[in-house]
Amino acid sequence: MSDPRWEAVDTYLHDALLPADPVLDATLADARAAGLPAIDVSPTQGALLQLLALAVGAERILEIGTLGGYSTIWLARALPPGGRLISLEIDPRHAEVARSNLRRAGLDDRAEVRVAPAADSLRALAASGAEPFDLVFIDADKPSNAGYFAAAMDLTRPGSIVVVDNVIRDGRVADAASTDPAVAGSRRVLEAIGAHPRVRATALQTVGLKGYDGLAIALVRS
Ligand code: SAM
Repeated sequence: MSDPRWEAVDTYLHDALLPADPVLDATLADARAAGLPAIDVSPTQGALLQLLALAVGAERILEIGTLGGYSTIWLARALPPGGRLISLEIDPRHAEVARSNLRRAGLDDRAEVRVAPAADSLRALAASGAEPFDLVFIDADKPSNAGYFAAAMDLTRPGSIVVVDNVIRDGRVADAASTDPAVAGSRRVLEAIGAHPRVRATALQTVGLKGYDGLAIALVRS
């Protein structure tokens, strides 16, 4: 589903609210030139992620799904000196583009891309006794979302935020009979979030440059 007004309004909001940003523009340009799909978050969504990270004073951020590092840059820019972001990516080619983009953004001292299936990296993080993350952004293979959310709950603390992208799927999330694994994955994670005793959460439908989709936001409580 799409509507020309969504794109026009997103462009207007971008121009009205967000400063010109040659580094982010170059990040997207290089990702497209390298043949990476245009499935990065939109600029206004990136700004929302950054605002959430700033609002919780995030010093440690975990991202699941790096692509070319566009959302990674938005998030890493919210970190204070000494802050750290770890982004998990399965595709070495995507990771290479992201690392180059992070270098140009001057963020490679605080943002690291780990290449492996995210489930393996998450297990390794838990096994290493990693300090809790203040914000987790889940944006990788959608059928695995419930597993990623469960892992995020083990890697966060009360007051942390977990964001899950693309949970509305053009409205198909409401279709309990859908055989689309991504829709089923979205339903599973939303139901896991809703049933979790330690989170308060909501999900919002969004329209814009990226069509009709939405995101879930969960606050981890004690
Ligand atoms: N967060 C990025 C952004 O907004 O700029 C977009 C991420 S893109 C939607 C999803 C990424 O997850 C892709 O780069 C894909 O290769 C990666 N991915 C898919 N399955 C994965 C897995 N099992 N483990 C880690 N990364 C995975």
